[in-house]
Amino acid sequence: MSEIRKHYFLDEYCIIASERGKRPSDFASKKTASVVSDCVFCGGNENKTPPGTAVYKDGEVLADKEGSLVTGWDVRCIPNLFSALSPKPAILPDPEASQWSIQEGFGYHEVIVESPIHGRMISDFSDNEMSLLIRVYKERVSHYRSQDGIKYVSLFKNWGERAGASLDHTHSQLIALPILPPSLKREQDAIHAASGCPYCDIVEKESRSVRLLYENSGAVAFCPHFSMNPFEVWILPKQHVNHLANCTDEMLRLIGDAIRFVVKRLSISSLARRMDFVTLSVYVTA
Ligand SMILES: [Zn+2]
Ligand SMILES: [Zn+2]
Repeated sequence: MSEIRKHYFLDEYCIIASERGKRPSDFASKKTASVVSDCVFCGGNENKTPPGTAVYKDGEVLADKEGSLVTGWDVRCIPNLFSALSPKPAILPDPEASQWSIQEGFGYHEVIVESPIHGRMISDFSDNEMSLLIRVYKERVSHYRSQDGIKYVSLFKNWGERAGASLDHTHSQLIALPILPPSLKREQDAIHAASGCPYCDIVEKESRSVRLLYENSGAVAFCPHFSMNPFEVWILPKQHVNHLANCTDEMLRLIGDAIRFVVKRLSISSLARRMDFVTLSVYVTA
């Protein structure tokens, strides 16, 4: 059972999930073949993972049933076998029982397998594949934000061992938590206190700056003036919108196009390749 622990005195939290240390890793063997027969995420190996909670096939959303697994899928969402969290209601422990603040690690942790084909990368995706992936992001976020007790949903994609990815078959992850991380709470408070929308202001200014990397009719990608990481890139919609769930299909298509452009540029940049990892994050409050 994982735990959500509070910092000794700061308003900061961490998840302690010792089971995740048992995850398999295929980086050690440095497999490069386009087909890896024992890869659990490859099409045809559905029986090596838990039943899919949402399996996208030919535009339809299906779910795997016990003994009947959907094959020939385009995108497959499955519970993380080495989950950092457990989908049970949170029970606050008796304060007498623990010296420090602990909360049961309630929440959801899902893996989104973006393609059945081993070695296929987001940067190679067709327009249809990219649109489907962003649609899946939107629908899975909407599903989890409506669950009881969930206050925050985070979508992220780690590429490369140093970013924390343990399997190299292309996949994203979703975590739904019963707490809003304090850094996001501070951001939310600052936005509510501002006179206009700070993000619209950023889009307006950065789309005319030397830091602009890419723009299409619905989104901009730029290296932020305030960067916390090397090669940090922000992708923002041009239109004011307060949630991924409120984006139209056309907005999602254009955001997907910008993500694909940035990932492709990072994958061909010799400097970025030396970094050997990419983390893509989408922050969403429930
Ligand atoms: Zn694979
Ligand atoms: Zn705005």
